[in-house]
Amino acid sequence: MECQIGVISGDGIGPEIVTEAKKVLDQIGKKYGHLFHYTDILMGGCSIDATGVPLTDDAIAAAKASDAVLMGSIGGNTSTSPWYQLAPELRPEAGLLKLRKSLNLFANLRPAYLYEELKAACPLRDDIIGTGFDMMIMRELTGGLYFGARKTEEVDGVTTRTAVDTLVYNENEIRRIAKRGFDIAMKRRKKVTSVDKANVLDSSRLWRKIVEEVAKDYPEVTYEHMLVDNCAMQLVKDPKQFDVILTENMFGDILSDEASMVTGSIGMLSSASLNDTKFGLYEPSGGSAPDIAGKGIANPIATILSAAMMLRYTFDLDKEADAIENAVKQVLKEGYRTIDIMPQAGESTEGIEQVGTAKMGDLIAERV
Ligand code: NAD
Repeated sequence: MECQIGVISGDGIGPEIVTEAKKVLDQIGKKYGHLFHYTDILMGGCSIDATGVPLTDDAIAAAKASDAVLMGSIGGNTSTSPWYQLAPELRPEAGLLKLRKSLNLFANLRPAYLYEELKAACPLRDDIIGTGFDMMIMRELTGGLYFGARKTEEVDGVTTRTAVDTLVYNENEIRRIAKRGFDIAMKRRKKVTSVDKANVLDSSRLWRKIVEEVAKDYPEVTYEHMLVDNCAMQLVKDPKQFDVILTENMFGDILSDEASMVTGSIGMLSSASLNDTKFGLYEPSGGSAPDIAGKGIANPIATILSAAMMLRYTFDLDKEADAIENAVKQVLKEGYRTIDIMPQAGESTEGIEQVGTAKMGDLIAERV
């Protein structure tokens, strides 16, 4: 297969971690007979330095011409970098928001997977963790409370100050994300938990109705509805029960952070943003980590796992995605760790070896 991949290396640790993901992809290409063509795309601080804006129209066109975009991270130190003296629409993050909008990326996917070897980083009790958990949070990204009309009443010194935010969803917005959620479940353990607040909110009652309609097209997938407050509790009480969690924007924002917290390090967390074609933007959940940029110690695993998601969800190369995920597990099992996932004080370091960014990439590529 020939794959056109736009590559946004970005700022900070971005170029370091993207280099390792490409190394692993190239190894996949060699082993399974695929050709990965990369097109570099400027976005973020590096684009500001080169062009004066965080994302040019040419960069958007290059992303649109790709089958998928693999991204490192963008941005700098928000207190000291001159990028943050610029107007908000000219700062690095504005580039990412513009790209998401231009590509209509309405579905955000964040896996939360607990690696046996990193169990110690999980704040849950051993009896709750059991044999581990493996879930996927699918969050609607372009609607709901964060995009509805909002206003704050003027203060006139007489009336009570009041602010209002509007939570709006139409059935098309719900249907397209629900379909995506059920499609993803078909590639996994075939279970969807749709999370809402249907005991209170009209938008949630419509959400529930549309999810039920969509579910009819997926007879192999079992689904359930869960109230968001219960879901927040269940995530720490029994995370094993979840496969795909499908939810709206604000609930997803909160639940995906809760789910990622129970897995351990930010350097392990991949993510994807999808539209209604096969296209996706794949990136680690962390930022550009300016504190460790250029030191060769950043953990590249989240970016490598994001590349695996790209193979699975854009290119339908499930076997190849499995090969990357298994190589990551193998490397952890053999005791290799970047600094962020080293054992904490009091934990055993027997059989553990600390490695840098490039070495971690080499080890994973070798085991693909
Ligand atoms: P951050 O995620 O960059 O860093 C938080 C902490 O996690 C730091 O101590 C960092 O060293 C560590 N860390 C992050 N990724 C790591 C990795 N792969 N390996 C090892 N350690 C890692 O968050 P921040 O410091 O709040 O933000 C820094 C910059 O990144 C800001 O400009 C922010 O706007 C930007 N940012 C970008 C994205 C993105 O590109 N999508 C996402 C979040 C933050």
